[in-house]
Amino acid sequence: MELTVIGYWGAYPAKNEATSGYLLRHADSAVLLDCGSGVLSRLQNEINLEQLDAVFITHTHADHFADVYALEFSALVLTQLGKRTRPLDVYIYGENLASLNFAYPDYVHVHPIEPARTVNVGELMFSFSETVHEVPCCAIKATTREGANLIYSGDTGYCSSFIEFAENADLLVLECSLYDVQKGVLDGHLTAGEAGEIARLANAGYLILTHFPHYGDQRQLAMEAARNYSGPIELAYSGLKWSF
Ligand SMILES: [Zn+2]
Ligand SMILES: [Zn+2]
Repeated sequence: MELTVIGYWGAYPAKNEATSGYLLRHADSAVLLDCGSGVLSRLQNEINLEQLDAVFITHTHADHFADVYALEFSALVLTQLGKRTRPLDVYIYGENLASLNFAYPDYVHVHPIEPARTVNVGELMFSFSETVHEVPCCAIKATTREGANLIYSGDTGYCSSFIEFAENADLLVLECSLYDVQKGVLDGHLTAGEAGEIARLANAGYLILTHFPHYGDQRQLAMEAARNYSGPIELAYSGLKWSF
């Protein structure tokens, strides 16, 4: 399984960058986790869009969702051009998915994510756990047949059910929206210290911090996480790859 960071900013993308988007490749499958602003453009540095098998959206905040309608247009156009031969499956965690503005059901199949149900894409199995956030949001676990796994938090506040869900993660991709000094100022997001603590309690093998604020020094986030977690920590950046 290989993860590539496509976008890693919270809220809005920095210049020539993207908000949340992570490409997972395994065997013949290509799956996108979240599709925030800027993701569709940057994704094409890694794959042709017709190669994408499925997309999982943790929640419908714009920094995780904004490019999904452009992605739908790409499915329409690429099918008309004969490059895409099957509909794109888009799995979304949220309420009232019928109110979303998808217009081409022949090209994009929208499915609700239900935490009690797993989804298989090729040789990968996906499972889900609700997090603590302003709107309904889920964390995603991808597991190979050999049992290797990756857990991506989506957006979340500190949450014991997430720690359980992330137990023994080979790779933990954790949102890190806040510096420790900001603890308590914004519900539904993690401070760096909390991210480190979660990684320690979950016994994670490797921690990638992501979903960064647009101020301060990101190296400070890694230092604050390292106070609570002694394993390897990396700050997300565009194009960062991690494979196992
Ligand atoms: Zn977000
Ligand atoms: Zn959010």
